[in-house]
Amino acid sequence: MSAAVDNELSLKEQEGFEKHLLKCPTCFNEFKEAQKTKHIIREKITRFKAPPSLVKSILELCDSPI
Ligand SMILES: [Zn+2]
Repeated sequence: MSAAVDNELSLKEQEGFEKHLLKCPTCFNEFKEAQKTKHIIREKITRFKAPPSLVKSILELCDSPI
C-alpha cells in the first residue's frame, strides 16, 4: 500500500518536474543518469515519469525550484 503511494506524484508535481527538466540541463542529466542506474530507462524513456524520491533527490542538487 505504501509502495503505491511512494511511486505516485500528483499530476501537478509531475508536470512541474517535466517542465523543469526541459529548461534545466543539470536536472535533465541527473534524471537520465538516475534512470540508467535504476535500469528503468527502457520503460520510462518515452515519458518523463519519476518516483517522488527521485524527483526530490534531483531537485536537491539544483538551485532552481520547480
Ligand atoms: Zn534543475
